[in-house]
Amino acid sequence: METKPCIICGHELESALPDNDWSTLQPHGGGQVTLSFYYGSCKFDLNMDGTQFVGVICDDCGEKCVERMKRTTENTRD
Ligand SMILES: [Zn+2]
Repeated sequence: METKPCIICGHELESALPDNDWSTLQPHGGGQVTLSFYYGSCKFDLNMDGTQFVGVICDDCGEKCVERMKRTTENTRD
């Protein structure tokens, strides 16, 4: 069964969807993380459209990070 590692601790997460479906990043016991870099990044803004990285994060690591992030219901998925 395919798993994906939490971007912080590396804990392997399984898909929350039936049949090990990873067509969207919806892990059981975690969530999707998107990092967006645009003009201003000295390392990752590699083109004028910006650069994005997507991955998964476990609930425990997410709990430690969300207090430093803005909460939004805007869907930023493509
Ligand atoms: Zn983690």
